Amino acid sequence: MRPTRPRVTRRGLLRRAAALAAFGPLFQATKPASAAQTAALNKNSAPSKLRITDMRACRIASNYDYPIIKIYTNQDVYGLGEVRDAGVEGLALVLKPHLVGRNPLDIEPNLDRIRKFANHRRTGGGYSAVDMALHDIAGKVYGVPAWRLIGSKYRDRIRIYCDTDESKDPKIYAERMRKRKDKGFTFFKMDIGPRLIEHIPGALIDGVATEKGLKIFCEFIQAVRDAIGWDQPLAADHFGPLDLNASIRYARAFEPYNLAWAEDMIQIGHLGQGGDAPLNWRAYKTLCDSTVTPIATGESLFGLEEGFKAFIDNQAIDVIHPDPLTSGAIRETKRIADYAVMHGVRTAIHFAGSPVGCMACVHTIATFKEFLAMENHAVDIPWWDDLVNGVPKPIVNKGYIQVPDTVGLGIELNDEVVKQHLRVPGYFEPTPEFDKFIIDDFRRGGPYPHLDEHGNLVTDW
Ligand SMILES: [Mg+2]
Repeated sequence: MRPTRPRVTRRGLLRRAAALAAFGPLFQATKPASAAQTAALNKNSAPSKLRITDMRACRIASNYDYPIIKIYTNQDVYGLGEVRDAGVEGLALVLKPHLVGRNPLDIEPNLDRIRKFANHRRTGGGYSAVDMALHDIAGKVYGVPAWRLIGSKYRDRIRIYCDTDESKDPKIYAERMRKRKDKGFTFFKMDIGPRLIEHIPGALIDGVATEKGLKIFCEFIQAVRDAIGWDQPLAADHFGPLDLNASIRYARAFEPYNLAWAEDMIQIGHLGQGGDAPLNWRAYKTLCDSTVTPIATGESLFGLEEGFKAFIDNQAIDVIHPDPLTSGAIRETKRIADYAVMHGVRTAIHFAGSPVGCMACVHTIATFKEFLAMENHAVDIPWWDDLVNGVPKPIVNKGYIQVPDTVGLGIELNDEVVKQHLRVPGYFEPTPEFDKFIIDDFRRGGPYPHLDEHGNLVTDW
């Protein structure tokens, strides 16, 4: 027999509320709101009636272009999001008709609707921008930081590493890295690319280092190690057009230097120019199995199932390195990192956008069980911090970013500064050209000829 549940009647509830109200200030929340209180009520407190009304954009010209979007609602609350650096805002705007009229708080159903339009490299950027804006809205509506919507906070600050301009002189390169350490950074990455040795006869064949070239690369790493210390994590990137065999040669040569990881080594035979969106997990598995240098990749992969799962399931990677502005932003990157840690794979974060996307990453990373470091590509751009208000400045402070406890993403755009750095004219102008469906999966355009249940041909819905 099914156990009977105690019946809860409306009258019973009212009686309990009255009893609680009798306790006075202890249960202020149960008192009926006065007219003054009602007037001061946050309009966002009608979440069930919240609807998406519009999506608009602007594009900031910086070290890369930063396409920024705003999702508007019928209750004056809006959300900010960012498409992947060097992408375009249209990747998000084409999703507008799939979202308008829907409740932005239905984060997962909304994302489910647009997932089929997301892919690797920049084409993951539209989905990712929408994810950020939905979490910004939901955080504001519920009065919680975005990280609270996806998990618990495992850390109060996020460790940052930054890129550093290379030099053909190992001493100058090492000195630049030492200056990063002086600024408080505790995680480092250097580029070990063909440009460093292209002027040296016999060092390269078609962009790939010979044994002579590899020895010179090692002198660069040695110089940087001597400058920052052997006790500091040091990663490496941008090796040039390597195939699997060349990658193995490089990774083995670098083993004495205890790299934190070697990034995106295999550049041949993969998705798109540059090879930073690898789909060939088998080649990466062979590389991982051939060296003790930790291997990282993933900055241009979208999604757990679409991009990262095969690498993790097959132990084909030591460190995943998603860029949340491609990988699916807050909710999806959390899924990816949780799946990785469950399988003993570590997570670092690639990032090269504006403070909007940066703070979305910070909220996401705050919830990771384990984490190495997050990239910042803009520590040398003097006005980068000024693009937003609401967070402590400098945003990257002594090598770390503070995790906000303010609502949503915790930032607002500084309109004046953003307007000074627009790539294309227009600042969140109306976007009627995106009102109709431009991309879609299955949709009847209107009445269509078909047989009804009696076998008669009709033109109807
Ligand atoms: Mg990289």
